[in-house]
Amino acid sequence: MSKIARRKFIQLSAAAAAGAMVVPGKEAVAQDMPKVEEDEAMAQAMKYVHDASTVDPASRANPAAEQNCANCALVQGADGDAWRPCQIFPGKLVAAEGWCTVWAPKA
Ligand code: SF4
Repeated sequence: MSKIARRKFIQLSAAAAAGAMVVPGKEAVAQDMPKVEEDEAMAQAMKYVHDASTVDPASRANPAAEQNCANCALVQGADGDAWRPCQIFPGKLVAAEGWCTVWAPKA
C-alpha cells in the first residue's frame, strides 16, 4: 500500500469510527419515521386525514371542538412538530393538523 493510499485509508477509517459512535436521539429517530398515508388500510379504518379542517364536526362521534392530532391524548413527540408519532399508528408519523376517529382530549 502506498503512503498516500495508507493515509487515505486511515483517514476514512477514523471518519467511519467517529460516525459509528454517533447515537441518534429519540427526535432523530422520529424524524426518520415514514408518514401515515391517508389511503392506508389502518388510516382509512380510523378515517385519518392530514387536515382536520376537512372533517365536518357534525360527523364526529365526539363533539369536542377544535380536534386535531396536536391536541389529542394519543399523540407523542414534541409540541410544535408538524409530524409526530401516534400510539394508534406505531412506527409512523401523523400530521399535527391531522385527525382520526380515535381522537381523545388530553387530560
Ligand atoms: Fe391523530 Fe389522535 Fe388519531 Fe393519533 S389517535 S391520528 S393523534 S387524532
